[in-house]
Amino acid sequence: MAIDIQKIRKDFPILEEQVHGKPLVYFDNAATTQKPTQVIDEMVKYYYKYNSNIHRGVHYLSNKSTDGNENARKIVQKFINAEHLHEIIFTRGTTESVNLVANSFADKYISEGDEVIVSEMEHHSNIVPWQLVCEKKKAILKVLPFNDKGELLVDQLDALISDRTKIVAVNHISNSLGTINPIQKIIDIAHARGVKVLVDAAQSVQHVKIDVQEWDVDFLVFSGHKLYGPTGIGVLYGKEDLLNEMPPWQGGGEMIKEVRFEGTTFNELPFKFEAGTPNYIDAIGLGAAIEYVENIGLENIDAYEQELLAYATEKLSGIEGLRIYGTAEHKTSVISFLVDGIHFYDMGMLLDQMGIAVRTGTHCTEPVMQHFGIDGTVRASFSFYNTKEEIDALYKGILKVCKMFVH
Ligand code: PMP
Repeated sequence: MAIDIQKIRKDFPILEEQVHGKPLVYFDNAATTQKPTQVIDEMVKYYYKYNSNIHRGVHYLSNKSTDGNENARKIVQKFINAEHLHEIIFTRGTTESVNLVANSFADKYISEGDEVIVSEMEHHSNIVPWQLVCEKKKAILKVLPFNDKGELLVDQLDALISDRTKIVAVNHISNSLGTINPIQKIIDIAHARGVKVLVDAAQSVQHVKIDVQEWDVDFLVFSGHKLYGPTGIGVLYGKEDLLNEMPPWQGGGEMIKEVRFEGTTFNELPFKFEAGTPNYIDAIGLGAAIEYVENIGLENIDAYEQELLAYATEKLSGIEGLRIYGTAEHKTSVISFLVDGIHFYDMGMLLDQMGIAVRTGTHCTEPVMQHFGIDGTVRASFSFYNTKEEIDALYKGILKVCKMFVH
C-alpha cells in the first residue's frame, strides 16, 4: 500500500495553518511531531465524558478511565512486542525513563569502580543521568566514538567493555545525525560479555518497527510526543526479572502495597514504578497515536520517508557551500546542515519568515557538535505527512537565504 498523502494531511489540521502569511512547512518533526485529530479527539472524549482518577475506583467514570489507561498499556506492549504487559511502565517521556533506569539500576547493580558505556552521539538525556549516577557511585563513564560520517565504531565496543562494565546505553537513531545504529550487533556484543543494554528509541519508534524480544534488549525508552501522541507521556520497557530486582525510584501513591511508619511494602510491576496519579489521558492519547501509525503501517511510513530523505539529500547536496553532517549509510529522515558563511540561527530565522520550520542549534547533542568542531546546525526532519513540494520550498528557501548573504 502506498501512502495517500493528501488524505493523511487532512488528519493534521495544523498543517493547514499559515505562518507569517505563508503556508506552514513543518520540518521539525525530530523535536516533536504534530497530532492527528484521531489522537486529539480521543483525549477530548475522555475529558468530556469519562475523566476520573484511575485504579481502585469503584465508580463508572474511574473504571472507564482505568480501562482506557490499561488498554493503552496493551497497545504499547503489542507495538514493541513485549512479552509481559507489566514490563510497560508509563513515564513522562524518554528523559524520565532514562533517569528512572539510571537511578534504580545503579542503586542495585553499580558500585565504585564499575563502568557505564554511552555513545558519542547520545542526546544529553542519555548522557547526563548516567554522569550523575556515576558521580554518586564513583563509577566511570566511557564513550563509544563515531566516525566522520556519523557511524558508531561498533567494532571498538568489545574492547571498551571490561569486567566492570554494567550497562551500555545507546540510541537507536541519532536525533542530530539521523544515523540508524546497528542495535542488534551492539546488544549481541554486550550480552556476550554479560552487560545489559538500554536503547533510546526516542527517534526510532515513529520510523521503524521494533521488536524488543527479537532484539533481546534489556531496556527500551521512548516519548509519546515524537510518535504523533501527546506531550508528557513516555514509556520504559524493561525485562521483568530486571525490573523486579530494581528498587522503586520515586515514592508516593499507587506504587505501594502497604504503608506503615515502621516500613512500606511496594506494589507489583508496573505500578511499583508509577508513583502518583498517572498521566492517564495522555497514555490514552499515546494508545490512539500508535493505532494511527499502525493503520498507515510502519513499513509504508519508512519507505515513504526514505524517499523524502533521498530526494532532499540530492537537492540540498547540490547547493554550493552546503555541507550535510551525518552521512551514514543507514539513515532516517533527518538532514543536519550548514552553509558556508551563514550562521545556523540566521538560516533558521530567515526560513521561518518563509513559513518553513526547522530547528537550529546543538539539538541537545553537544558532543556531536564538538566532534565536528561546530557550534550547531540547521536540522530539517521529515515525517510521512511531508511532501516533495515542501522539500522544494526548503531548497528554494535556502537558495534565497544564500543570495541574501552574497556581498
Ligand atoms: N533521546 C533522543 C534521541 C531524542 O531525540 C530526544 C528528544 N529530542 C530525547 C532523548 C529526549 O526526549 P524527551 O525530551 O521527550 O524526554
